[in-house]
Amino acid sequence: MFAERLDRVRTRMELDGVDVLLLSVGADLPYFAGYEAMPLERVTMLVVPRGDRATLVVPALEAPRVVERPEVFSIRPWSESQDPIAMIVSLMKGAAVAAVGDQMWAGFLVDLVERSPATTFRRAGPITGPIRAVKDAAEIERLRQAGAAVDRIAARLQSGEIPLIGRTEAEVSTDLGRQILDEGHDRVNFAIVAAGENAASPHHEAGDRVIEEGEAVLCDFGGTMIGADGVGYCSDITRCVWVGEHPERDFLEAYAVLHEAQAASVRAATVGTPAQDVDRAGREKIAAAGFGGYFIHRTGHGIGVEAHEDPYIVEGNETPLVAGNAFSIEPGIYVPGRWGMRLEDIVVVADDGPEPLNRVDHHLAVVTA
Ligand code: ZN
Ligand code: ZN
Ligand code: ZN
Repeated sequence: MFAERLDRVRTRMELDGVDVLLLSVGADLPYFAGYEAMPLERVTMLVVPRGDRATLVVPALEAPRVVERPEVFSIRPWSESQDPIAMIVSLMKGAAVAAVGDQMWAGFLVDLVERSPATTFRRAGPITGPIRAVKDAAEIERLRQAGAAVDRIAARLQSGEIPLIGRTEAEVSTDLGRQILDEGHDRVNFAIVAAGENAASPHHEAGDRVIEEGEAVLCDFGGTMIGADGVGYCSDITRCVWVGEHPERDFLEAYAVLHEAQAASVRAATVGTPAQDVDRAGREKIAAAGFGGYFIHRTGHGIGVEAHEDPYIVEGNETPLVAGNAFSIEPGIYVPGRWGMRLEDIVVVADDGPEPLNRVDHHLAVVTA
């Protein structure tokens, strides 16, 4: 699998005129080599020359963590008295163009630029992103499992099993985080809980605001499930609930618009459709209802080994969707000082139409606990 992924990356390097690919901290390395670099000051670097074997330069003390994959890369440990940048530069063999992983520490890149002055450095994202954006059947199955796990948590939120009234956002967020782990994730990526007017800020950080009856609560949460191969896949879902018996009329009306808009974007997620048309499908409905100015972000982001990756579902992205693309569809309506709402599912594009990976109820749940 990893060898085949590196073949695909070499084909793209050829097309883009890139001689060597350098991957370090970030999600590209686990995706292409099944190893995650420790995000520390000691350099870990996979050096992938276009026409030669890949080499993983790794601190000697971390070498025992590496699962050996001789068909994919050879291992070059460096001891505390050795110079890893010199090793990497020699493996680059005078490359004219190098592509570096977008999340590599700036410090590593600055060292490489100084020590390899004849090389032009570019971002690796345009090479690795489009490859990672097309999931194979095994990856989709893992996204399905992660999606089903957060669906079970959302169902407990909607049924009132996760108590809200009188508790702080932060307490509920901690609950969600614990359940993300209990449901089989290895990492909690985020657990946004935003009550009442706080939900008007899309990335509100859960705080000591106490949740009361007569307001809505937005919960947006997800984590990463790491498989036996060392590669993790992410979940991401948003549901809103109304706390107390009688939702406010204007909130209900806006929610009906949001629900319809989200469904329209999901329906639009078909093979060959430009990504921006998925955004437009829902945005048009929200704008037609007069809320256009309150939908202040793109419709979605790709998801896989990272919570946010290609393809981005945004105006201006004309790239046609292909089978295997997986991304969020998460329109929202945010009225500052009053309330906010968002409805988010992960959707996979397939030849026979869009497959939503989140199926838990899309209506506004009313909870009294
Ligand atoms: Zn977000
Ligand atoms: Zn989300
Ligand atoms: Zn999302």
